[in-house]
Amino acid sequence: MPLTTYTMDSFTSPNYTAIADVMLPHTQNTYWHEFHEISKYNVQLNYFERLWAAWYAYIGNDVLATGIMSFLMHEFVYFGRSLPWMIIDRIPALNKYKIQNQKVPSAKEQWDCAKLVLVSHFTVELPQIWFFHPMAQYVGLKTSVPFPSLFTMAYQIAIFFVLEDTWHYWMHRALHWGPLYKNIHKIHHQYSAPFGLAAEYASPIEVMFLGLGTVGIPILWCAVTQNLHILTMYIWIVFRLFQAIDAHSGYEFPWSLHHFLPFWAGADHHDTHHEKFIGNYSSSFRWWDFCLDTESGPEAAKRRREKKMAKAKKAQ
Ligand SMILES: [Zn+2]
Ligand SMILES: [Zn+2]
Repeated sequence: MPLTTYTMDSFTSPNYTAIADVMLPHTQNTYWHEFHEISKYNVQLNYFERLWAAWYAYIGNDVLATGIMSFLMHEFVYFGRSLPWMIIDRIPALNKYKIQNQKVPSAKEQWDCAKLVLVSHFTVELPQIWFFHPMAQYVGLKTSVPFPSLFTMAYQIAIFFVLEDTWHYWMHRALHWGPLYKNIHKIHHQYSAPFGLAAEYASPIEVMFLGLGTVGIPILWCAVTQNLHILTMYIWIVFRLFQAIDAHSGYEFPWSLHHFLPFWAGADHHDTHHEKFIGNYSSSFRWWDFCLDTESGPEAAKRRREKKMAKAKKAQ
């Protein structure tokens, strides 16, 4: 009996429901069939672990299963997280929280930005995602169930945050060097008052280099420790996307995270970078800019002036 029994008609017929109900050519099972089979024989797995295992069994090709999941996750999180900021931009009552509140992006500006980001996702990111699974397998990244413990995921993600921030600081600072700025980084600085969607509005070369901090660091960690699950990596990437989009949001609220965690960078830190074009190079934390005296903005300039004056007084 042929396994492929689907024609175009089956997809347009009223009986057609969802992709999860489709039998793929390699299997006679739908996604939910796989899920029930796995649930029957793996009672020790939790619900999410069963959903996960069923996805890999259903697709039947690990490269494809990881590729589709990674791409969709990125799109959902990127546009899903940017959407609330676009709505906030259209609410005048919230304008008082906008850092550069005279520069609210127009709907057209946001749409133009979204188009470029989408083109880059499909042409640059999608082909790279295809290399991800083989590379991940090569370094021993786990894709199986059960998932790692919450503690393991939490400490690994904390390490990735610190290491990525370091990578980002030095790479971003390098991108502000004349020739690199002119040829690569200038695109990202098109918006002097950033908005959420502009987080990945950048040259593909920049996305690749800075992206190495997000993807390359966990891969390196896995190669060295042989202890990393792809789920931990996904959760890390979701957090990192939230961080990048929120840092570009242009909004500073009394409840913004950096009021409670003074070393957290947030929008307050990165908005100034876009406004002044210099200083505040790191992504998640403030310590690199603080220690290396590259903080941007009027407060940092005032501190620098005071320091200089104190020095001059001492020398007299
Ligand atoms: Zn920059
Ligand atoms: Zn930026």
